[in-house]
Amino acid sequence: MTLLDGKKLATQIKSEIKEKVLTRAAEGKKIPHLAAILVGENPASMAYVRNKVKSCEEVGFTSTLFKEPETISENDLLHLVENLNNNPEIDGFIVQLPLPGHINEHLITLAINAEKDVDGFHPVNLGKMMLGLPCFLSATPKGILEMLSRYDIPTKGKHVVVVGRSHIVGTPMSILLSRKGKQGDATVTLCHSYTQDLKSFTLQADILIAATGIPEFITGDMVKPGAVVIDVGINRVEDSSNPKGFRLTGDVHFPSVEPVSSYISPVPGGVGQLTVMALIQNTLLAAERKD
Ligand code: NAD
Repeated sequence: MTLLDGKKLATQIKSEIKEKVLTRAAEGKKIPHLAAILVGENPASMAYVRNKVKSCEEVGFTSTLFKEPETISENDLLHLVENLNNNPEIDGFIVQLPLPGHINEHLITLAINAEKDVDGFHPVNLGKMMLGLPCFLSATPKGILEMLSRYDIPTKGKHVVVVGRSHIVGTPMSILLSRKGKQGDATVTLCHSYTQDLKSFTLQADILIAATGIPEFITGDMVKPGAVVIDVGINRVEDSSNPKGFRLTGDVHFPSVEPVSSYISPVPGGVGQLTVMALIQNTLLAAERKD
């Protein structure tokens, strides 16, 4: 079994990007600038955004964090998005999800200029992805492709089973892997909460991607021997033995799946790291497009 070490890959990618930023600076080109909007004080969202800002600093990007109160109105948030759309200094920005219940997430996503949508959530980017046109790929699926590629794991002709069909992970992942061409050409089965006899599908997977948000949902008996297992889940489960009062766990029950798999991504230290790198790569791309 080989561990798909997201932390190690992220370190490599960071140094590659840092190099590019230094070259840009030497050539007098603009330093990429990522902005993030964080609404409220959801601890997981705060941790994700902190990580993103820290990664920007590490690669030499400029970053700006807009911390808005939980009570911000939809209109005020739309104004902020509009300001960032119109600010030439900012190459790309994200609005950290989830948003409070009184704000329509779709409305906010639609308001982001697709040229600055480095999370790849805007319908223009999702549509271009469908057609195989240049675009910002959704950060988590892009990160997973990067992980497969850097570990030389082929997808052509493989049966990939994706469990979970969210717009930000499962659905774009299934489309990317079934597209024609490099890093695609897989036969993809997309499973979800209405799938009957899930195990009969997961047992067929050469590559199994779990994105359900249910802690340790995929167990060893659901995995074909030798399968590649990608755990997207990041779940906080109560743990009184941990000083933080919780521990992070994936959607995969690591102890029972690890012995069956050929490759497996851990949580933490797996896909999450690559998601942040994909965001950084998209921001660099946004800056390069304006050169
Ligand atoms: P979501 O809640 O939007 O979607 C969950 C999906 O799981 C749904 O499509 C649902 O149909 C499916 N599902 C639920 N119960 C199921 C069942 N019993 N059998 C089969 N399918 C079932 O979740 P999401 O936003 O895609 O996130 C999934 C997980 O990935 C979460 O733990 C989230 O925190 C994590 N996540 C991680 C990253 C990262 O960078 N690693 C990025 C985004 C999300």
